[in-house]
Amino acid sequence: MKIIDAHFHYSKISAFYKAAELCGADYSKAGLLKEAGEHQVIGGVCMGLTETTGGGFPDLQAETPMGFDIDDMPKNFYFSAGVNPEKLTDKHLADLEDMLRRPDCAGIKLYAGYYKYYVTDKIYEPVYELAVKYDLPVSIHSGDTYSDSGLLKYSHPLAVDELACTHTDMKIVICHLGNPWVMDTAEIVYKNENVYSDLSGLLVGDHQRFGWFCGQELFLNMFRTALIFANRFDKFLYGSDWPLASMKDYIHMIKLIVPEEHHQKVFYDNALKVFTKINI
Ligand SMILES: [Zn+2]
Repeated sequence: MKIIDAHFHYSKISAFYKAAELCGADYSKAGLLKEAGEHQVIGGVCMGLTETTGGGFPDLQAETPMGFDIDDMPKNFYFSAGVNPEKLTDKHLADLEDMLRRPDCAGIKLYAGYYKYYVTDKIYEPVYELAVKYDLPVSIHSGDTYSDSGLLKYSHPLAVDELACTHTDMKIVICHLGNPWVMDTAEIVYKNENVYSDLSGLLVGDHQRFGWFCGQELFLNMFRTALIFANRFDKFLYGSDWPLASMKDYIHMIKLIVPEEHHQKVFYDNALKVFTKINI
């Protein structure tokens, strides 16, 4: 089965190199192409992110827009432009708009929780105007933060409900199914036609950790219950959060969570529907 990975990373973030080492991922262009090739991952969308000092993530100094800086992007792989709300002057917004016009830029990424603003804060309005103008989806970090300096009240998925209601012409992707608030996310996806969710980051770590959690039915059932409750398998997207997990482990886990009759949609079709610039 061909796969599109709707959420992975390709930026020089020191914490990601450490995570990659832990799960045995070769965090380089060669490593990405090798793992992708082995698992029929024929394309994807990287979440743009940069840090100005090692260990600075979430970096208040990073300039908007944030892109990728490991290497050039392989064919069929795209990126979403990252936004630092602390850096949204007219110049930053003009640079963001230039980036959104690039053929390899497929969306916008917000890091709610890492940056201390609610997604409904008016600071983001000019960004949302650009998203609508270029008909690009806005992916929003949601749920647990990978850094203990993040604040969960800003990354709770419930905040997305109001954003969805006030911006009905904007496509929104809640990242990580809002984990662990997965039922909240399921309700928001069910309720709001313009909201989707990616299934990346439900678990990170090495093969042994995946082995243990994938043997826990209670763990898997938490996600299965949320997906069945929403019953919108046309709105959930596969994503690995690579290099925080190996593609092999992650694909295996999502296959356990998503009923087989919906694999084609979740692993491939839905990404094309949401990230309309993907041209594979
Ligand atoms: Zn991520």
